[in-house]
Amino acid sequence: MDLILLGGPGAGKGTQAKKLVALLDIPQISTGDMLRAAVANGTELGTKAKAFMDAGQLVPDEVVIGLVKERLGEADCKSGFMLDGFPRTVAQGESLERTLTEAGRTIDHVVSFDVDDEELVLRITGRRTCGKCGAIYHLKYSPPPQADTCACGAVDLQQRADDNEVTVRKRLETYHSQTAPLISFYAERGLLREIKGTGLSPDGVFEKTREVLGR
Ligand code: ADP
Ligand code: ZN
Repeated sequence: MDLILLGGPGAGKGTQAKKLVALLDIPQISTGDMLRAAVANGTELGTKAKAFMDAGQLVPDEVVIGLVKERLGEADCKSGFMLDGFPRTVAQGESLERTLTEAGRTIDHVVSFDVDDEELVLRITGRRTCGKCGAIYHLKYSPPPQADTCACGAVDLQQRADDNEVTVRKRLETYHSQTAPLISFYAERGLLREIKGTGLSPDGVFEKTREVLGR
């Protein structure tokens, strides 16, 4: 199954992707995670990307498109993939379409998570991620079992550099102006599966996601 997860910052793409990996046994390809890894490793690409990310802007198309193309060519993507955070512009969507056509593949579903902006801000500013296992928590809505300690035992809950209110508002603007046009792009192609996520728990959203995927 070739899947795309679409939605604003904090809409639940990463959380649902982790649940879907277990269900579908296909790899999650998160461009945000790939870019953060490049930043942490201090690569040339990471250095270039960091300024855009910290400002809540998109990293230039050609950089991200190159990363994804390379990743989709790897062996574990042969029987399917789940794109999380890509495409984020219509140009990225068009490029992906060409790449897949050349490879004789097509997208099966584009799952779009729709959540109100004010809820997104609350979700993101309270988000913490375990530095060891990658588990995602929210200080209020899904707190770790003990303050500061992940279920895996690590005392390493981190806040992303771009998860502060000012940058979140900027990321929302970026989402509405540059990414949301992909909703009609995929609706026109008959691939859009919309899920209303406002006020729903991660498990509630997962149930709806399974429904639209028929799994
Ligand atoms: P979000 O919580 O906003 O969905 P991500 O982890 O997906 O965050 O991405 C974090 C940042 O990485 C974005 O704000 C953007 O700067 C950059 N980024 C991630 N994916 C892309 C992409 N496909 N195109 C351009 N920039 C991207
Ligand atoms: Zn952990």
